[in-house]
Parts: sequence; structure tokens; C-alpha cells
Amino acid sequence: MAELIAEEKIDQIRQAVDIVEVISDYVQLKKQGRNYFGLCPFHGESTPSFSVSPDKQIFHCFGCGAGGNVFSFLMELEGISFQEAAIKLAAKVNIELGINISSSKGGKKLSKELQAMLDAHELLRKFYHHLLVNTKEGQHALEYLLNRGFTQESIDKFQIGYSLNSWDFVYKFLTKRDFSPEWMEKAGLIIKRERDGTYFDRFRERIMFPIFDRHGNTIAFSGRSLGADEPKYLNSPETAIFNKSKILYNYHLAKPSIKKLQYAILFEGFADVIAADRAGVENGIATMGTALTDEHIALLRQNVQTITICYDSDKAGIEAAYRAGNHLQEAGFQIKVAMMTDGLDPDEYIQKNGTDKFRNEVIGASLTWMAFKFLYFRRGKNLQLEGDQLAYIEQIIKEISKLDKAVERDHYLRQLASEFSLSLEALKQQQKQIYFAEKRKSYGLKEPAHKPMLVVKPAEELKPAYITAERRLIAHMLKNREVVYKVQELLAGQTFNTDEHQAIITYLLGFFEDHTEPDTSAFLTYIQDDNLRRMVADIEMMSINDELTNQELTDYIKQVCNYQKLLKIKEKEVELKEVEREKNFSKAAVIANEINHLRKLL
Ligand SMILES: [Zn+2]
Repeated sequence: MAELIAEEKIDQIRQAVDIVEVISDYVQLKKQGRNYFGLCPFHGESTPSFSVSPDKQIFHCFGCGAGGNVFSFLMELEGISFQEAAIKLAAKVNIELGINISSSKGGKKLSKELQAMLDAHELLRKFYHHLLVNTKEGQHALEYLLNRGFTQESIDKFQIGYSLNSWDFVYKFLTKRDFSPEWMEKAGLIIKRERDGTYFDRFRERIMFPIFDRHGNTIAFSGRSLGADEPKYLNSPETAIFNKSKILYNYHLAKPSIKKLQYAILFEGFADVIAADRAGVENGIATMGTALTDEHIALLRQNVQTITICYDSDKAGIEAAYRAGNHLQEAGFQIKVAMMTDGLDPDEYIQKNGTDKFRNEVIGASLTWMAFKFLYFRRGKNLQLEGDQLAYIEQIIKEISKLDKAVERDHYLRQLASEFSLSLEALKQQQKQIYFAEKRKSYGLKEPAHKPMLVVKPAEELKPAYITAERRLIAHMLKNREVVYKVQELLAGQTFNTDEHQAIITYLLGFFEDHTEPDTSAFLTYIQDDNLRRMVADIEMMSINDELTNQELTDYIKQVCNYQKLLKIKEKEVELKEVEREKNFSKAAVIANEINHLRKLL
């Protein structure tokens, strides 16, 4: 059980850290007015809707609703517990916590089953690796790897292993250690036989590549067959701990290098990542056999803005690179593309040409995204033929029209003009025509891919008056303790109409019992509920007047109370219709009277 960090310490940490500084480690922030803005690390977007307030020490995204203080930011982003976030922050500002840190390690409290799934993977990773490097049984597998250019160093770094040629070794290994077979089946490590309900090992006689999550936990395996066994690569199925659309292979090891070099290299498969690493390229990552998802992109954006795509240079690889590049470009990344000669993949290229050539002539000679498109659109065309040539030029001009900078457009138009001996003026003319035609086509349909860092917070959506009134009252209560008590008094026992708003007030009352000064960031730590925390951050980011006048206050209270009366009136009106239908006129008269009375109270 983790030791608790004393509350004074938490306060001390909160006062010492600056939320802008912490978030800047993950998001590129630009100052605009009093606040900072950037691309939200919690959802994929190309225009910034994520804001950080240094005054209030909170963040909020009006795109996805994420919001909170510096603790909740780290908790959500890193998937860690409050304690762990506090430990991280304390280390950043050199605050001695006086607790045994190792005892509070271990992450978010996982369910027993999930923890068992992780533990089993961890055990097996170590065991598979041991079998490969230290035992007679694994020797042929080790030789196979060394023959294919793997080094002892990379075998250790990537914890590569070997699974025995046995139907039940893993099953026995795990059940002997009290792992439940049902959960190990759910973890994808063993498979249940339909006919008799017994289990057998998923991975047999394969080279085992562990897949890690971003914290370095082993969450899955990919097993490469040694013989003619199909499939060549057998992956763990999707499980409660392994979600392909979120996992980037090698992310946890590559992160420091990605940050240092300011770019990441995206490979098609993990074998390429390992091969490139051998060439000293340590900032490589790969998806696990899926196309790039928004979740991958959000993860990447936390650390980097430039991506070099290094996919296979065969036809399928080039198509995939084109798709991934477009996806990344829409998300606002700078893109380069590294290409190999002869349609090779990175692994093959390195085996054939060596590591130096790969570093210098492939990665070092990456093409700009536009230069890649010049090549991409050229494929399958015979540019000696006038028809093909015209089609190609038009495609390229279309792409040039998408560029933001006039200098860039000019550069590529010149390149095109000189290659095909065309008049630059004519090309410019055509480019403008295409630009306006495209603009007309997409007008009102789609935003341009690149937009300047300009943030316009959407006008407060048209919310019912009582909700706006409640939000504004809460905003003032957050800033002023007195307002909390005044509002309570004026409501005279009535509550806010929105349950969440009422819950926030209940928390505020508790908070102000032991805090005399308003402090939204401290309050956010005090609130236990994620959803409410987001709501408070959202409300806190509204602009309100510094002072709440009595007139304003009574207006808001009136809005809040009227809503209840309006509901009552509606109820009565339904009742009235009912009795009228029953032709109960005396009762109808009574109800009509009541409605009139209620209306007068509004
Ligand atoms: Zn967001």
C-alpha cells in the first residue's frame, strides 16, 4: 500500500510548480493575451483549442472538454495516479516528500486481473529472453538471429526471446504460479480448445518480440516463426491491456532520442525499428500492423512536430507512406519521407548496404513532403507522352496550391517550369486558377489544413438561461468565498437545477471550510470526480466581470429559481389539458388559477 503524501506537501508542490512550464514539456504553447494556447494532447486536432491559464494554474480544452490542474494534467496524460503525479512534480521542484517512494510505485491501481495479465507478460518476457540467450534449447534461434544481422546488444535492448516447441509449456509455467487460465486466455497467452476445454500455448517455436506500452510494461508479443510455419509473424490478439490503435512500438525507448533530435522516424513494422536501431537510429517507432490512428497521432504530438516516414519502398509501402503523410499533415506535422533504392525495406537495405549508408543516404537524405509527392504522382506515368505530362503537371500544381507560403509555392513552380521547359508565368497563372477553383469547391465544407495559431473561443453555446446563470454564479463563487454563502442564503433551501453544478457547490462549501482564500487549482485537487473537475476548469475559463453586483446576483438567482417554477407550470399545463379532456371544468378552473398564480411569481 502506498504511503500518503502529507497535505501540506501537496500544497507546497502546487505553489512551487508552474503549470505552463510542466505542460510545455508536452505541448508547444504560445502566449496569446493572458493565456497560453496549443494543440490539445488529449485529442487529435489541427487548430489549437487547448488553453492554459498561468493566473489560475489550470488548463482546459474546449475541443474535447479535458481540463484540470497540473496534477490532473499529468495523471491523464501519463495515465498515472495522483500520488505518482505528486512525486514527479516534487522531484521537478526539489521538494523532499519524506516518504518511501518505492512503496508508492506501481501506477494507477489496476484491477487484480489486469495486474495479473501484466505480471504474466513480464514473467514470460524474462523467461523467453533467458531461453534464447542462455539455454541449449534456444541456441538454434539465437544463431538464426545472429545470422540475420541481429547483435547481442539489440537482442538485449529489445528483450528478444524464444518460445519452446511445446504445446503446454506456458500453460504449466503460469498455472504453477497461480495465474488463472481464464485470465491468461484473455491475455492472449494461451488458447482454449473447443472440444474439451483444455488449453494450449499460443506461441510455440518462435522468436519472441515483446511489445511494451509507453511506460515500459510488457503488454503483448509478436512471435516470428523459425521454420515454414505460417503466419510468419503471429501477434497477441487485442486484449484489455493491448490496444493496437494506441500502441507505438519502441515509444518508451525512443522518447528521449525523439525529444533530443526533435523528430521521430515512423517505420512500417517493428523489425525495421530494431534494424534501424542497429544503425544508431534510436528515434524509430512503428505501428503494430495498423494504419496510423488519431490516438497514435495524439501520442506523438506530445513530444514532436516533425516525423520522417520510412516505409518499405515498394508499391504498397509508397501508397501507405502517402496515406500516413496526408494524415500527419492534416494533424499539423512537418513531414519528410525517407526512401530506399530498389524497392527494399529498411531491414533489407541495412543488410545489403550497411548501417552507415542507411544513416546517411536514406535517413539523412529524406525528401520533403512535397518532393515525395513529385515522385509519388510520377509513378505509372510516361512523362514523354504529352497526355501523361499534362496530367502530372496539373496534379503537382494542385499540390503546390495547398502550400501556405508564397516562397515555397514559387520554389516548386520554378522546379516544375525548369524540368518541363515551361513558362513560369503560365504556371503561376494556372496555379492561381486551380487555387481559386479548389477554394470555391471546398468553400464552407472544409477548413484549410494549416491555420495560423489563432484561437477564437467559440461563443458560449446557446445554453438555456438557467444553466448560464448557474455557471456564472459558480465562476464568481470560485473567486470569492463570500459569494458562496450569499448564494446559499438567497437560494433559501432551493438547489441548482443541474446536478453537477449542485455537486460543485457542495464541494466548494467543504473546501471553504478549511481554505479561507479562493484557489481554483487547489480546489481542483480537492474534487474527487473527473467529470466535475473538467466542468470547473471549463467554467473557470469563462470571462466574467471581476465584481459581482447585487443586481447581477439577484438576476442570476432569479433565473435559477424560475426554472423550477417554469417546470411546475409545464406540469400544471399538462394536467390542465388532461382534466379539460375529461370535461372536469371545475377542476380545470382551479388548475388554471394555480398556473396564473405561478406565472405572477416569475
Ligand atoms: Zn482536447
